[in-house]
Order: sequence, then structure tokens, then C-alpha cells
Amino acid sequence: MTNSTFSALKRTDFKKRLATENYDVLIIGGGITGAGAALDATTRGLKTAMVEMKDFGWGTSSRSTKLIHGGLRYLKQLEIQLVREVGMERAVVHRNARHVVIAEKMVLPIVEGGSLSKIMSSIALKVYDFLAGVESDERRVMLSKEETEAAEPLVRKDILKGGGLYYEYRSDDARLTIENTKTAVANGADCLNYVEVTGYIYEKGRVVGVEIKDHISGENFQIRAKKVINATGPWVDKLREKDTDKVSGKRLHLTKGVHLVVPREKLPIKQAVYFDVLEDGRMMFAIPRGRVTYIGTSDTNYGKDAKIERPITGMSDVTYILKAVNYMFPTVNLEPNDVISTWAGLRPLIHEDGKDPSELSRKDEVFYSKTGLVSIAGGKLTGYRKMAERIIDVVVKQLKAEQPNEYNDIKECQTANLQLMGGQFESQEAVEKFITQRTGEVSQIGLKQSHIIDLVEKYGTETDKIIEKAFDLYQSIQDAEKRLHVAELWYAINYEMTNNLDDYLIRRSGRLYFERDTLAKWYPFIADEMAKILNWLESDKQQYLANFKNEYEEVVAFKKEMALV
Ligand code: FAD
Repeated sequence: MTNSTFSALKRTDFKKRLATENYDVLIIGGGITGAGAALDATTRGLKTAMVEMKDFGWGTSSRSTKLIHGGLRYLKQLEIQLVREVGMERAVVHRNARHVVIAEKMVLPIVEGGSLSKIMSSIALKVYDFLAGVESDERRVMLSKEETEAAEPLVRKDILKGGGLYYEYRSDDARLTIENTKTAVANGADCLNYVEVTGYIYEKGRVVGVEIKDHISGENFQIRAKKVINATGPWVDKLREKDTDKVSGKRLHLTKGVHLVVPREKLPIKQAVYFDVLEDGRMMFAIPRGRVTYIGTSDTNYGKDAKIERPITGMSDVTYILKAVNYMFPTVNLEPNDVISTWAGLRPLIHEDGKDPSELSRKDEVFYSKTGLVSIAGGKLTGYRKMAERIIDVVVKQLKAEQPNEYNDIKECQTANLQLMGGQFESQEAVEKFITQRTGEVSQIGLKQSHIIDLVEKYGTETDKIIEKAFDLYQSIQDAEKRLHVAELWYAINYEMTNNLDDYLIRRSGRLYFERDTLAKWYPFIADEMAKILNWLESDKQQYLANFKNEYEEVVAFKKEMALV
């Protein structure tokens, strides 16, 4: 079934196929929704293509809180069906991608003036576990004030009444997106980044394909498909506007959410904490990850005229988040200068008149155009597989009605029990055994357990390819860290369609967000290595370096605002 390895060096092959095949389904947008839909469609036996205008996961799907969670707070809004569906999906997504969806203990401090009383928290967490069908060893435990203090000594004590301990899953949104995309490609889909849909092709008033602009070669070409799905997240209305049947009825409502990253020692919580923001009745997460802790999120309306392409973290976002953290953890005294990185993302929510950002439903919605274009928006990272199932059900039904002879054998959704690339582990113990075994092997080439954990949490069983490459490089590169960097980069280019520094340092490896403080000494070296593998001219390298430097500066651009105050 495999078309070819998902290598940036084979980009031309992918493009050729896209320009010449006639697909059953073409998906626009390479976020988690598009990637999930591509995997669902191809594994049912549909000839599938997916195109992304920038990089896979470049939109909202690399800028979320990175949790696979049921959304405890949606219970308060009585969104029972939503909590049930995403709650149940947590276990499915974890089972299919154990390397990148990892159980995380959460403490929920119950405080005076908080959104839930002790009794209501207990009931809410119990309902949450029940709706999500949580296994007995991961069910919630209620804590006394003293037990909560022991679980999280940094939490504010004067208003503390008790707490709850429960489980969610932490993930990496961009990695989950690329794992879905790789698995779709391995199952026959043609997926490509840096190809933008600029318009539609019509026959007898129906959409039969799209116009494409390739942002790497500059070429324009067309892709033909019987069904076209618009899964462009915050851009869904823009893509609907390009259709001859203009947007009517429901529209998107974009809200911005910001996360701040601080060194772990500045906010040394023992586990993730989900806490009240007393000022406005919202809730916020603080999540430890490796050497850092990240905190978020805010939720503010994103003005219609603001640029979707560039949501950035402003000083007011930083002030809001730090104020909430410093109140709930009164000894930490975080300051703007402690922030080492940030990200800002846009929620593609469905507009409801008169509602505040945090009150808008997180449900997904399908939009139908008279031209046959179908669009899907809203939803959550956690529920992506179900969203994909819903939208592919829609197009399968249409194809069956239009051409019964050709499509009657198309299968039902196959993804509930489909392990993603790198996720071939039967249990958590199997992940741990894998880590222990590989740690033993790589000690010969100067690598440690921490290196292996880092690799496994990104690439899962595919880590073996990187280790093998690191062994191959043993003679030619003396320094163990450098060798590992080159091996990982080699994998990202040859197996994950990585085209430039941004793809690698932001979305494939998450380094800009989580290791920005040590990145300055590495990224020029990585650019040199990338130039060798991808045969860049010096001018290409300088351009890609400049692009990355821009991103590197922009995540802390709020510090410039600070200087002006
Ligand atoms: P996107 O990821 O934005 O993907 C759309 C893609 O379409 C983009 O990559 C874009 O480049 C591409 N595109 C646009 N126009 C074109 C074109 N013309 N041609 C080709 N491609 C195009 N959910 C959770 O479950 N857990 C969380 O912890 C969580 N936290 C969140 C925190 C924040 C701050 C935000 C903003 C969201 C959060 N969410 C969370 C929600 C979740 O992140 C989103 O629902 C999800 O990522 C949306 O994915 P998407 O694929 O629909 O959109």
C-alpha cells in the first residue's frame, strides 16, 4: 500500500501523483482534523489526498494545551454528550499512540471562591470518570486540605479547602498530527505540505478539484477529486468564501489562547495542576514537561481584522497568566523575564450570539455547500478521530448514493483499533521495557536514558531507526549530542517530510517551545546539517535561518513591549 517513504527528498514524486491522479477524497488542511480524516479515508479504501499550505500541524494543532482530555469544565456547561465522547476518546487515542499520549496525574485544588465546591468537585470528577469509562486504577481520589498540600506543597494554603486527584493524558499536538499523517501515507494516502489551495475547479456547478500553489517551487497545478473536504480550522470560513456558494448560516468565532513556558525550577510543581483563576471564574493548567513547566491558557476574542497567520503573545496575555499563577502559587513570584518561550493559538469555534469566549461550545460542526464542498470545524484535539469518522461518513454516503457500483464495498471506519506509526506498544509496560532495552544498547555510543525517553516520547518504535543512524555516525561524529542531533534530523527529513528549520525545531521536535534556552548554540549547526542533506544553496540556508530567527524572537516579542513600558 505504501506510496513511498514520507521523505522530503521524494517531494517531487508526491507532487507528480497529486497532479495526475483523480482522488476519491481530497482534504484541505494538515492540522489534526485533516490528518485524522486522511487516515480514516485511506484505511476505508478511498483514494485519498491531503494538502497543507504551510507545515503539518502549523495552525492550531501545534499551539494547544497539548492535553488529551475530556474537558472537566464542560461539565459545568452541561455539555454531557461532548464530555462523554471526548472522555471516551482519551483511552482510544492513548491505546493507539502510547508513545505520544501519556497518562498524567492532575491535582485540582478546591479553593474558597473557586468554581466548584468540595461536594460539587467530588460529584463532577465522579461523573467525569463515569462518562469517560475510566479504569478503576485511574479513577479520581478526593483529598483533604492536608493531603492536597502534601500532593502540591506550592499551592496557596489560606483559601485551600481540599482537592481532587485524577488522570488526563498529556500529548504533543504537532507530533500526534504528524503520526496520523505518516500512518495515512503508509496506508496509501498522498499528503503534502507547503501546497496551498487557492481556488476550486467546477464542472456543472460542482467542485471537482482545487487549484494549488506550491510554496517551495513556486509552481501552480491542479488536483482532481470527487469529494473535497475543507478541514482548515481557523481558515474554514476563508475557504468557504472562495467557493461560489458563499458562507451563509453559522460562522466561525476565533478566540486566542496563550501559553507561557518557564524553567522547571521557577515553578517546581510535583505534577500537573488544574486551578481556578478567581478573577474571572476560568480554569488554567500548569504542566511540568522535562526541564520546563508550561502554563495556560487565556481565552480572548480574536478580532476579525487580526491576522489569522500570526497570533502572538502580547504583554497583556503574559500579565493575565502570571497574575493567576502567582496568586495560586504565592511563593513562586514569577516575572515576565522568567518566561523563556510562549505560543499562541486560535480556537476555531462556532459562533453563538451573546456568548463569551469561554462559554462557546467546543462541539464540531459540518457545513454543506450547494457545490458539494463540505467543511468541518470546531471540536477538540482529543476528539479528532471521531470528527474524522463523522466527516468521512458524510462523503462515503454521498459517494455510495452517486456511484453505488463503485463504492458499495467501502469499509466502515477502521481507526478505533489502528495503532499509529511509532505506537506499536501493547501496554505501558511495553513502552518502559523498550526504553530500558534501548538505554542499555546506546550506552556504548555515549547516550543516556534521558535521550531515549525524549526520542521515544516523540517517535515511539521509530526510535530504532534513529539509534541505528546514530551508530552509523559513530566514527564520523565524535560528540555524542551532535551525533544524536544529526541522526534525529536525518529521520525527520527522510521519514517526516521536514523541509526547513521551522518544521524541525518547532513541530517535529518541539525545541523552540521547550528548549529555547539552549537552542541558540544548536540551530546554526542544525542548519548546516540540513543544508547538506537537502542540498541547499548558501542563499537557501540563509533564508531558512532568517525565517527561524524570526520565530525564535517572536515567541518572546512581548519583552519588547515590556521595554517600552
Ligand atoms: P488547524 O490545526 O488550525 O489546521 C488547519 C490547517 O489548515 C492549518 O495547518 C492551515 O495552515 C491549513 N490551511 C489553511 N488554509 C489552507 C489552504 N488554503 N490550503 C491548504 N491548507 C490550508 N484541544 C484539546 O483536545 N486539548 C487541549 O488541550 C486543547 N487546548 C487548546 C488550547 C488552545 C490555546 C487552543 C487554541 C486550542 C486548544 N484545543 C485543545 C483545541 C484544538 O487544538 C483544536 O481543536 C485543533 O487543533 C484544531 O485542529 P484543526 O486541524 O481543525 O485546525
